[in-house]
Amino acid sequence: MSSPLLQPEQRVLSTLENDGSRRWLKPRVSKGRFLTARRIVAYALIVLFTALPYIPINGKPAILLDIVHRQFTLFGFTFLPTDTILLALFMVGLIISIFLMTALLGRVWCGWACPQTVYLEFVYRPIERLLEGTIGRGGASKRDMAGWRSVVRFVVYLIISMFLAHTFLAYFVGVEALFKWVQSSPFEHPIAFVVMAATTFLMMFDFTYFREQMCIIACPYGRFQSVMLDRNSLIIGYDEQRGEPRGRFERGVPDSERKHGDCIDCLNCVTTCPTGIDIREGLQMECVACAQCVDACDSVMDKIGRPRGLIRYSSQAAMSAKPDEKPRLLRPRVIFYPALLLIIATIFTVVFSSKGTADVMITRNYGSPFARMGDDRISNSLRLKIVNRTADPAAYRIAVISDEAATVETTQNPIQIEAGATLTEGMLLTVPQDRFRDGHYDVKIRVTGDDDFEKTVNIRLIGPAGKNHS
Ligand code: SF4
Ligand code: SF4
Repeated sequence: MSSPLLQPEQRVLSTLENDGSRRWLKPRVSKGRFLTARRIVAYALIVLFTALPYIPINGKPAILLDIVHRQFTLFGFTFLPTDTILLALFMVGLIISIFLMTALLGRVWCGWACPQTVYLEFVYRPIERLLEGTIGRGGASKRDMAGWRSVVRFVVYLIISMFLAHTFLAYFVGVEALFKWVQSSPFEHPIAFVVMAATTFLMMFDFTYFREQMCIIACPYGRFQSVMLDRNSLIIGYDEQRGEPRGRFERGVPDSERKHGDCIDCLNCVTTCPTGIDIREGLQMECVACAQCVDACDSVMDKIGRPRGLIRYSSQAAMSAKPDEKPRLLRPRVIFYPALLLIIATIFTVVFSSKGTADVMITRNYGSPFARMGDDRISNSLRLKIVNRTADPAAYRIAVISDEAATVETTQNPIQIEAGATLTEGMLLTVPQDRFRDGHYDVKIRVTGDDDFEKTVNIRLIGPAGKNHS
């Protein structure tokens, strides 16, 4: 009986069977120069990813994304809540850098440095292969897995996932808080415990079940490839002119008499692909540029005595059959992106260097615009906000410098503020009533602090209109 489902004319997704079920991949390991290099990079990155929250730079963790206090520390610099412009510039710069890197080097991030690839291909899959046993150089399992092996695999995966979840958490709460939580009962920090448990669950789900689907259907970076790559970007490509027509290897036949190209249709490049695609069908969005097909094909070429590089790092333009298409390193986007980055870096530097060791803001408080004090004096209720940007506690003094008769009242003066902390408090500014013209009067307030910090703020006070206020 024929299937009631409408059959697709061609494969829709490399990991989807025609009936819509998941096509499970068991990619073979292809040893070669790129795998060796990627392995070194991957283990170095695992050490780096784990160590970053512990490495101090300028007395702060290399990376600390403190969402609760809205402070993001990146390589020695802390973006405070008042640094919106700096943070926005940094993020835009980061995005443009990704555009530039992709335009030049294609998906090098995906294949070589993305934590998804690094942990899946160099931690989880090797453990699975070790426990399952594999055919040849590591593809499908040799046998149905005994029950105890599944249990061992689950436990090992769980331990690793918990470790990764703690590492992940350290980026957001810092290692000190993390150590304290680890040593105390989960009931003392239930939210952190739930976050850790949820992260562990997500890691388990990702690395045991979802796997390549993350790259194929979930990751936004992968989805944007079609607009970020151009014909001159670095990609992994199959040399169709050299490989086609593919067919069985004709041993001992001189080149001039061979009926086939260099591709012997062994499918080694397909069975090794972690996203299940056939690179011979051209550049596809699923390709994460891991170079496993390059290693697979190179070893085939070595065996049949043909030159390596039937599949290789190249560009669409370089591999093109069109005689008028020449590969170009310099192209508009490769000039435009660095120019944009330069502009952003300049603005960032200017804004950054204009920042002192503290941020001071004075705004009007809620309620009536002014109050009569009963001694011919008018007061305005204001809000003072000071951000101590330094790594030490500091004291800040407030004074009115434009009018000796003016007084300023705060709950404390000088105001003590902890390192990196923000303090907001009410401030009452009182001046003689006869100062007001047309209902307002401008004063200068000076905030001085440790480290020779000094900032003068102009503030317009509101009072009764007219010269005679009685
Ligand atoms: S590994 Fe090389 S020779 Fe084998 S099918 Fe792929 S491209 Fe052809
Ligand atoms: S096509 Fe090659 S480079 Fe691309 S994901 Fe598959 S094995 Fe990796």
